[in-house]
Amino acid sequence: MVPFGEVPVGLVVSAWDAVEPVFGLPCRTLAPQPLPAAALDAARGQYSSRLLLAELLRLAPAEARGALGVTEADLFLPVLTFVFGEAQLGGRAAVVSLCRLREELYLRPPQPVLLLARLRKEIVHELGHGFGLAHCRDERCAMRPSSTVGQTDAKNAALCFRCATLLGRTR
Ligand SMILES: [Zn+2]
Ligand SMILES: [Zn+2]
Repeated sequence: MVPFGEVPVGLVVSAWDAVEPVFGLPCRTLAPQPLPAAALDAARGQYSSRLLLAELLRLAPAEARGALGVTEADLFLPVLTFVFGEAQLGGRAAVVSLCRLREELYLRPPQPVLLLARLRKEIVHELGHGFGLAHCRDERCAMRPSSTVGQTDAKNAALCFRCATLLGRTR
């Protein structure tokens, strides 16, 4: 795991407790890295998730199965207003942003337990892509896409039976 900029590392480590059983892989936390200046789109005030993925590939230790970046920065893809995260399908890099998972962004009081649950779901979702899983129609499956926190809250941090089986085949 690579923190980009100031990230509550304890929160991410707590999130990993629930993520590890899904993938069966240990997580090593690397030293925080500055957000790459080239990834900032000044007009949007957001960072390009695509460029953060490229930076992760550069930073990932050769022996790592995958590299997970976590940041507070708001992420975007050119065609979308924002993304909770992005991964290379079947690739080694995945990135997740805490920015839009926080209740404060919606002018509501902070909810640390809810934030942790959302982070777990988005990490499982993006790493799932990284390990080759596509989107899933199962309403509870972590691989169901979400573009609002309500959609994130409606799904589980676990994979459905079908996705878990596919993961077993593709690993
Ligand atoms: Zn997705
Ligand atoms: Zn599924």
